[in-house]
Amino acid sequence: RAKELNPGGYCFYSQTKDERSVDRLELEAELRHAAEKHQLRLHYQPKIDMASGRVAGVEALLRWQHPRWGLMQPDQFIPLAEETGLIVGIGYWVVQTACHDAKSWSDAGHPPISVAVNLSARQFRQEDLAERLGSIVRASGLAMNRLELEITESMVMRDPDAAADAMRRLRAMGIRLAMDDFGTGYSSLGVLKRFPIQSLKVDRSFVRDLPHNGDDVAITRAVIAMAHSLRMDVVAEGVEHQGQFDALLKEGCDQFQGYFCKPPLTEPDLVRYLEDERRRPEVPEMMPSVV
Ligand code: C2E
Ligand code: MG
Ligand code: MG
Ligand code: MG
Repeated sequence: RAKELNPGGYCFYSQTKDERSVDRLELEAELRHAAEKHQLRLHYQPKIDMASGRVAGVEALLRWQHPRWGLMQPDQFIPLAEETGLIVGIGYWVVQTACHDAKSWSDAGHPPISVAVNLSARQFRQEDLAERLGSIVRASGLAMNRLELEITESMVMRDPDAAADAMRRLRAMGIRLAMDDFGTGYSSLGVLKRFPIQSLKVDRSFVRDLPHNGDDVAITRAVIAMAHSLRMDVVAEGVEHQGQFDALLKEGCDQFQGYFCKPPLTEPDLVRYLEDERRRPEVPEMMPSVV
């Protein structure tokens, strides 16, 4: 029955927790004006350097604060935004906001950490992507090499030649590139070496059962070795507990993200975290095994 009423399948729970399904057209109409109505938010999740325990960068994660529906998560509206093409405009809003925020953190005296933005497939295929990103970053005053774009395997495998081309243009401007959710797609290692990628993010499905699942230990070990031999950094996603952290540290993983350190934070909460970090001694207590 829910399917009949809601053919697009966009269902979610409202803040009051009554089940409600929103009509696709209503969702689209509301999303079309979300940016101008100041309903879009970026949360920032730290990427932590495993050896020092310090913030190496942050990833911007989009939220939609709707007046009636509450705080919407990306899986509730990004697929529709992608289908309708609204993602292109929203995506530029994300880059602009992320660059502006990152500039404000270093202006306030925080270390020059990188800010990563997730690109959508549709956005990645735009002819003028590099040009538009270039002017957004320049206007923000942020150094080009502090912006990182997260791209997935499926985005590059559709047309590897065109993808490599687009990536080279972005790299030529100094923008950093990361492969997100690595291991869930179908990119061959042969193709991977052709892309100018600086960082590889191991999907959290390989992290979840560390350290007990021997297959996952073997996979993360192989991925880390391969990435390092291609001169890429490795970031583990979805690290939730000490056992996973220890296993990844042992395998030589460079950075991690996950609830073990912090969930995605509001901008003011991130700033507080950066401030706390400046007062904190080199090795944080949350990672006693680093000592
Ligand atoms: P992603 O880029 O792989 O982001 C990681 C997701 O894992 C985030 O979900 C994050 O909140 C979640 N996460 C972080 N640490 C943990 C952990 O320890 N355990 C678990 N279970 N989850 C963790 P989120 O924010 O819901 O974003 C989901 C996806 O939506 C992202 O996956 C990304 O593909 C997409 N997305 C988010 N923001 C944007 C955006 O601005 N533009 C586009 N095109 N896509 C976006
Ligand atoms: Mg990502
Ligand atoms: Mg990811
Ligand atoms: Mg993932």
